[in-house]
Amino acid sequence: MRIFDPHIHMTSRTTDDYEAMFSAGVRALVEPAFWLGQPRTSVASFTDYFDSLIGWERFRAAQFGIRHHCTIALNPKEANDPRCREVLDVLPRYLAKDGVVAVGEVGYDSMTPEEDEVFTRQLALAIAHELPALVHTPHRDKLAGTRRTLDVVKESGIDPGHVLVDHLNEPTVGVVHESGCWMGFSIYPDTKMDEQRMVAILREYGTERMIVNSAADWGRSDPLKTYKTGLAMLDAGFTEADVDKVLWRNPVEFYGQSDRLVLDELPGFTPSADTFAGNSVLRGGGNT
Ligand SMILES: [Zn+2]
Repeated sequence: MRIFDPHIHMTSRTTDDYEAMFSAGVRALVEPAFWLGQPRTSVASFTDYFDSLIGWERFRAAQFGIRHHCTIALNPKEANDPRCREVLDVLPRYLAKDGVVAVGEVGYDSMTPEEDEVFTRQLALAIAHELPALVHTPHRDKLAGTRRTLDVVKESGIDPGHVLVDHLNEPTVGVVHESGCWMGFSIYPDTKMDEQRMVAILREYGTERMIVNSAADWGRSDPLKTYKTGLAMLDAGFTEADVDKVLWRNPVEFYGQSDRLVLDELPGFTPSADTFAGNSVLRGGGNT
């Protein structure tokens, strides 16, 4: 199984995670810029973080045979803090850089007027830089928030094929399917969406424009949820080609619209014997 994880926050993960991901078949990923938990008080905290995404974390991933890309944006939560507004002015500098494959995560958190303004401005930046946009949907009032998100996307004039609407579930998938945008699903250990529900959605809607991620971060999450969704698909009768489409070809097609994906094998990388040993998830699995 080859896997492209299109949404995972590696900054908050360990080297054991990188090794387990490589063993499971993860060869490339996208790390979206996000809220770090601790509120940031100035634009300099953002630029240091953006620099670490395009520099240090890419280097760290490469040590484990994984190609690292990122998306850059002012996230919806911090859009509400006036001290962070200046971040919008430094974004063009980052959106021009190698390895930055989309504007994101943008969208709504609490659906405030500040979030409206920041979301709209960042969609305009995506259009200006000819980049796709990764759009986060709010956790509360999810269906209303998703509808409003799609209205803003439509008004912006961005091609819906350049938009990935993420963190979807059963109530919200239908409207995004109709919109022509790509549909993203974050598979979590105990909230939002699990492997079995994901398989049911793929049965109902098919595999076109469908993207699955682990969204692993600082909270309770699992960087192998992409792999486990692949196994659940195979158990449910989907073919290896279906799994490859959802876990590799779809995210590659979506983020490939940036013309900045690098997917060839890392030169000189040979996994250590340890990489394939001692991982309880993979022991006896053999589906890599
Ligand atoms: Zn995220």
